[in-house]
Amino acid sequence: MLTIALSKGRILDDTLPLLAAAGIVPTENPDKSRKLIIPTTLDDVRLLIVRATDVPTYVEHGAADLGVAGKDVLMEYGGQGLYEPLDLRIAQCKLMTAGAVGAPEPKGRLRVATKFVNVAKRYYAEQGRQVDIIKLYGSMELAPLVGLADKIIDVVDTGNTLRANGLEAQELIATISSRLVVNKASMKMQHARIQLLIDTLRDAVEARHPR
Ligand code: AMP
Repeated sequence: MLTIALSKGRILDDTLPLLAAAGIVPTENPDKSRKLIIPTTLDDVRLLIVRATDVPTYVEHGAADLGVAGKDVLMEYGGQGLYEPLDLRIAQCKLMTAGAVGAPEPKGRLRVATKFVNVAKRYYAEQGRQVDIIKLYGSMELAPLVGLADKIIDVVDTGNTLRANGLEAQELIATISSRLVVNKASMKMQHARIQLLIDTLRDAVEARHPR
């Protein structure tokens, strides 16, 4: 059995056509179903529906052989516990700092609100900047508006959410897309099977999202 961990929403919507190219089609609509384990048209492949930030955990621990996770999630998760053999070129966005339009740089320590705490620590440490990092779980855009933080670090796509809240994107930390991740033991134990799937997905990515 090959188990593939995916999150609902953007990643699921954009991954399903790629999986279909490999003959893997869920037997029920994961967006509508409440089931967390979804069989596919291949008897020996199933999907696990998990939170986006939990995908690396399932795959690293071998509860799933493969998964699809945003580079932002993987950067925050860190570690060397996963193979990342393929950029699926889906769910593309940018991980950026943002602040209130026209706000001056604060005199004291910069306060940065984000859910990407590890990314933020690394980013400012590389710049030799001392910052206070404030962990939030959502609605980061609110933090600078109510004085909780000077800046945020978040993923930005169109920038509409920032603009709607009087914020502007500032520094680019990383360009983001979703990646196929593979459990290291699975890659050894089921090498031929997984390598064939990777090769098929790579061809599907090239066909759908040429460089
Ligand atoms: P935007 O198009 O910049 O207004 O993006 C709207 C919101 O969707 C952002 O605040 C992000 O939290 C989220 N978002 C946009 N693109 C992605 C992505 N590729 N992965 C995860 N979240 C995203």
